[in-house]
Amino acid sequence: MIIGIGLVITRQTAQPPDGRDPSKEESLKEWNEEANREQPPEHHNQVQSLAQQYKGVLFYKGNETKKQTALTFDDGPDNVYTPRILDILRAKGIKATFFIVGVQARAHPNVLKRIVDEGHAIGNHSWDHPRLPSLSSAQVIEEVQSTEAEIERITGKRSDLFRPPYGLMTARELDELKSLGYRVIDWSVDTTDWKGESDKKILALVNKEISPGGIILQHCMAGRPGELEGTVKALPQIIDRLRAKGYQFVTVSALLE
Ligand SMILES: [Zn+2]
Repeated sequence: MIIGIGLVITRQTAQPPDGRDPSKEESLKEWNEEANREQPPEHHNQVQSLAQQYKGVLFYKGNETKKQTALTFDDGPDNVYTPRILDILRAKGIKATFFIVGVQARAHPNVLKRIVDEGHAIGNHSWDHPRLPSLSSAQVIEEVQSTEAEIERITGKRSDLFRPPYGLMTARELDELKSLGYRVIDWSVDTTDWKGESDKKILALVNKEISPGGIILQHCMAGRPGELEGTVKALPQIIDRLRAKGYQFVTVSALLE
């Protein structure tokens, strides 16, 4: 069973590790051209059912008995939106979780350092954002391990959290990630911010979908210029609104305790 966002397209040419472009032009082009990054309505049900089979490995929510939530930001670091998001989080005194893409870490190591220095948590989000079910097992492992090595080289830290690109995963990837020692993190609140949504729309979605233990999906690296203006504008409003409702913001690891 293949689940997740959008259509699954078989990769015709697998990129060898050495062929990876540190300037990230190629992979980002492919990534931006993904015709459909929309999550199908069945995504959540399928993740729920997989989470039943992979208890302690796959999570889309944290502890539901505490009024806590985790903000998560995917696809960075970049040098446009990530610093602005970090400024807001610092001003509000909040720790979030950033799911890091290896090519982005290589391109913006100082921003990754800043994420860690300011006390945020990090997770692994693959080297160049492929559809994991389309890769061989060896390629999946390479995607994960090369990213982890880059994160460790830059920050001195490793993570035990992994988020599959596009939320796409099958039992095979879950088995591999489990054997590599990772917890796999999906989400319960999808802001759909990558579509370039307005702050109003993002805030409305969060208000509607939030519940205790909720994991909120946002992005900190834009596919198209200007795409995440809504994310930045919505962020302080999300924080204020959820705080007013009694929510405390914690990292994903803390949320799962
Ligand atoms: Zn992503």
